[in-house]
Amino acid sequence: MAPRDGDTIVVWFSHGAASAIAWQETLRQYGRRCIVLAVNNPVAEEDEDNHRFGRDVAAWLDQPLTEWRNPKYPSASAVDVWDQRGAMVFPHGAPCTVHLKKEARQDYERQHPVDWHVLGFTADERKRFERFVLTERANVLPVLIDANLSKQDCMDRLLSAGILPPRVYAEGYPNANCIGCVKATSPTYWNLVRRTRPEVFAARAVQSRRLGVRLVRWRGKRIFLHELPATAQGRPLKSMDVECGIFCEERAA
Ligand code: SF4
Repeated sequence: MAPRDGDTIVVWFSHGAASAIAWQETLRQYGRRCIVLAVNNPVAEEDEDNHRFGRDVAAWLDQPLTEWRNPKYPSASAVDVWDQRGAMVFPHGAPCTVHLKKEARQDYERQHPVDWHVLGFTADERKRFERFVLTERANVLPVLIDANLSKQDCMDRLLSAGILPPRVYAEGYPNANCIGCVKATSPTYWNLVRRTRPEVFAARAVQSRRLGVRLVRWRGKRIFLHELPATAQGRPLKSMDVECGIFCEERAA
């Protein structure tokens, strides 16, 4: 299967470096003969600099970036979703991903023709891509894998184009998802949130205690955030530790 002339390809732009280069590569590989559109499903808990990045990338590629929300959650706030659902994480995912990403994408698909999807699967994520195609959608174009581009290649390409990545990368976050992502269980991650965004850490600690959710794993046990020692460290962070896929991939917390 390959795109035919005139097909519509939607790039699901997540504010990550890889999805920016996926957008650029889609235009390079298919832009002359297909309709290429970029869509973002916003989440209010992402850092505000992500929006600056989205504007910079859109200006660089000279294309509009469309924002699409789930009409059932017009605030696009994960905090609101957690309160309304009375839960923050499920054994195989998180309700915020389902309502703010997956259902927002499905709502877009109901109202627009989409022949092909592009996500930021990099050359080092071939297995993840293959699993995704098997379990979610067959019509995904692996533009970064085809171009043999790794996450680092994507970051390098952005920098050489003069595009400043979202500032959260410089703060030590492995991706540009929400700050205080509830899929993360790593003590390294949560103490990074505590150091860089103490107000977010405090808010997650209060809400997760109220909802009875032990977000962090320390010494083999799930504990509440307020129980985590400020000096606790696990292994260094990787992007896979806190991944919020557009299609709500079932990655256990
Ligand atoms: S990044 Fe984390 S907190 Fe944000 S929507 Fe995805 S799973 Fe939820």
